Amino acid sequence: MSELKQSRPKGTQDFVPPDSERRRQAEAAFRRLAETYGYREIITPTFEHTTVFVKSSGETSDIVTKEMYTFKDRAGRDLTLRPEGTPGVVRAVLENRVRMPCRLFYVGPCFRYSRPQKGRYREFGQLGIEALGEAGPLTDAEIIFLGSTFFASLGIRDCTTQVNSIGCRECRPSHRDALRRFLLDRKEQLCDDCQLRIERNPLRVFDCKVETCRQAVRDAPTPRQYLCPACKTHFEQVLADLNRRGLRYELNDRLVRGLDYYCRTTFEYVSAALGAQDSLGGGGRYDYLLEEFGGPDTPAIGFALGLDRALLAAPVAPVPERRNLAFVVWLTDAEIGAAEKLADRLRADGIPAQVDYDARKVKGQFKTADAARAACCIIIGPDELIKGVYSLKDLATGEQREVSADVVTAEVRKLFAEQG
Ligand code: AMP
Repeated sequence: MSELKQSRPKGTQDFVPPDSERRRQAEAAFRRLAETYGYREIITPTFEHTTVFVKSSGETSDIVTKEMYTFKDRAGRDLTLRPEGTPGVVRAVLENRVRMPCRLFYVGPCFRYSRPQKGRYREFGQLGIEALGEAGPLTDAEIIFLGSTFFASLGIRDCTTQVNSIGCRECRPSHRDALRRFLLDRKEQLCDDCQLRIERNPLRVFDCKVETCRQAVRDAPTPRQYLCPACKTHFEQVLADLNRRGLRYELNDRLVRGLDYYCRTTFEYVSAALGAQDSLGGGGRYDYLLEEFGGPDTPAIGFALGLDRALLAAPVAPVPERRNLAFVVWLTDAEIGAAEKLADRLRADGIPAQVDYDARKVKGQFKTADAARAACCIIIGPDELIKGVYSLKDLATGEQREVSADVVTAEVRKLFAEQG
């Protein structure tokens, strides 16, 4: 047997309290927000048949060629830990014949084998929504607004919303031809990958981070210059609605999605506070993806937001000195039963309660209560048991008073509120 490795795998993270709680709160805030727009949660497996991702991301994408956690299970099936949420959602919707139109959201981990750095991990959280069966520009604008509202709700101030349109099957070919010609004239300036992209998928050159490639495409024909009248109108209506909603945005011609099933609106949220990995989330229309998966012709749009980066960009609220927890302290073994009963009663009333069953002495119980940062102790001794009262000690102020058994729940609630 090899020795147990003491450290976590590269690119993964541990979340101990209170960071774990902050993460869950952000997820809960996203769930609540998505629900207020009519979205319902979909839960799909963490791994899928590898073909699901190859089909949606394309065989030549970075995700598929370099970043997937792919493995064979014991029966030799080719499986992959999900690198993104959308493909599994589309697969599940079609497999379960979910009625459309439908609005779905998901929350969960994704896995990519990329070089870890601040804001980039091998396991990270994504929060996503997908509106399937909705074609109109007002849906696009509402979704863009929803994402931005979420970041604002976390207190992220410097989130910039960027938008673009990449056209459709009608208008894209003429842009592609123009772009190809433009890039062929500048082939020597492009990196090896981009030289291959000229023929395969020239739009991807816009995504390249290599400086010479960025320079080369600075004056390249943009998708927006080639929009057909229908795409142009669609985009104008998206922008008009963003204006109506008072959402500030920037137009970004470089915001493209290289895959054929993407169309029209693309958008991204970026934060200057994040450094190199500045994308908080992104999304776009993918009107042709469901068809690609063998489903009916269904317009669709969605986004994926990065939970880790959102939490990096959001201000950290000060952690309260004490938390809503009542610690029940017993003086002698004779009161253990009563302590247990009281704790159960408090829990049934929705008050978190804990008892130290191992301590032999009162002092030890107070120490445990303090280590747990409990708000108060409720002390039960022989006298209290006879009188039917408890001693309630506020651990923030040290004040202690007697409370009768019938009002203990109300008194603890009051104390939580005072400390809150
Ligand atoms: P993408 O599917 O690449 O557009 O990713 C959507 C969002 O997920 C990004 O904007 C990031 O916020 C987040 N994200 C993507 N990859 C990672 C990663 N390796 N680590 C942390 N967050 C990530």
